[in-house]
Amino acid sequence: MPAKVDMDKIVSLCKRRGFIFPSSEIYGGLGSCWDYGPMGAELKRNVKDAWWKAVIHERDDVVGLDTSIMMHPGVWVASGHVDGFTDPLVDCKSCRLRWRADELETQKCPKCGGELTEPRLFNLMFRTFMGPVEEEASTVYLRPETAQGIFVNFENVVTTSRKKLPLGIAQIGKSFRNEITTGNFIFRTREFEQMELEYFVKPGTDQQWLDYWVQERFNWYVKLGIREENLRLRQHGKDELAHYAKDCYDIDYLFPMGWSELEGIADRGDFDLTQHAKASGKELTYYDAEANEKYVPYVIEPSGGVDRSVLAFLIDAYEEEEIEGEKRTVLHLNPALAPIKVAVLPLSRNEKLTPLAKEVNKRLCSSFVTDYDDSQSIGRRYRRQDEIGTPFCVTVDFESLEDNQVTIRDRDSLAQIRVPIEDLNTILEAKLKGEAFDASSLWATRQK
Ligand code: ATP
Repeated sequence: MPAKVDMDKIVSLCKRRGFIFPSSEIYGGLGSCWDYGPMGAELKRNVKDAWWKAVIHERDDVVGLDTSIMMHPGVWVASGHVDGFTDPLVDCKSCRLRWRADELETQKCPKCGGELTEPRLFNLMFRTFMGPVEEEASTVYLRPETAQGIFVNFENVVTTSRKKLPLGIAQIGKSFRNEITTGNFIFRTREFEQMELEYFVKPGTDQQWLDYWVQERFNWYVKLGIREENLRLRQHGKDELAHYAKDCYDIDYLFPMGWSELEGIADRGDFDLTQHAKASGKELTYYDAEANEKYVPYVIEPSGGVDRSVLAFLIDAYEEEEIEGEKRTVLHLNPALAPIKVAVLPLSRNEKLTPLAKEVNKRLCSSFVTDYDDSQSIGRRYRRQDEIGTPFCVTVDFESLEDNQVTIRDRDSLAQIRVPIEDLNTILEAKLKGEAFDASSLWATRQK
């Protein structure tokens, strides 16, 4: 299977095939900001949908939420972000470059060898002003995590959802951090999307739920195609734990730059609800009718990055191989994540083939995301679909006009089967769910 790929190849494929472009590129780009192109937008949506499905729809103990990016500034004082969400920074007195003090190995500027200032704490939250007056009273922050929108709505959700604990509240949304060291493509950026779950439990049961969610989240990546040997769990050391955390695990992925965090799963105890209760003056407790007691729930938080997941799925799916002397690049994306599920390709742009090919596409496009492509040679069109990870290509040829059958080509095995057009929807639906090709109906196979 695929050897580890370097990041340049992923960046180049993303640009070439319309997954990800540098933001504001015609103006020369903006540091660490990226735009998702037509293929990237589909892939990203599919990642978010797969998370929403697994975390909310396929369970009866988690509900979804969508809270605002700007919140009352008091939220960030209570959460600890105003005082604590900082990195220590040093400036070079000669070249003026700024560095993270905790990442430097020397006392001199790594760029020019110049003298450095004393470290100063730099808050990572973006600030802006609400309303027409630019003054302190109107300062608001762009949220650096989506979690706080969940905590401040705890009471609203508990009273309106009529659910008992354990209860999860989940959301997906943009977060902003004025990171000093960005880079590695979409791995660390200043604007990114998070998928966060706050799972509220009875104190004392938190360890068991932490273990449960660590496993659940690890399995989610594996189920969607990431090879297990490229994932690892890492428990935080006591000195590494964030101020709110009792215990924390990272799910790391073997990115081209080495093992790096994909998702963190923390036991936040009752820190957040207690802090918000103190600061807002509202009681944030839960009445447990069965035990006839009132308590502040503990919370387990799996917090993952959408963009980092997209990157990991792309890297893990990438393969370059040689088939019959020809090089092909292929993304073995799980069908649930693939931007296009089925490509409809007439053998050539011929006036006799076009009407039937268009009709086939019409039959399919209300059930699957399809791509109709009739330009260039069939070989080139297959290669393009392989590079964007399309699981199946349906080819309409001259025989189809006679027998009303088309061929389905499988991206991974390159096997082809010939099937009646009227059965196409049912067959593709089964194949997209993972059904194997029936060897007896194999039409033509180009073995690897
Ligand atoms: P790191 O130290 O790698 O920047 P973190 O430990 O600060 O990450 P958390 O605060 O735990 O990250 O955020 C949860 C998740 O949000 C991370 O696991 C990651 O997937 C995503 N994330 C955090 N910061 C960024 C960022 N700057 N760019 C992209 N994704 C991010």
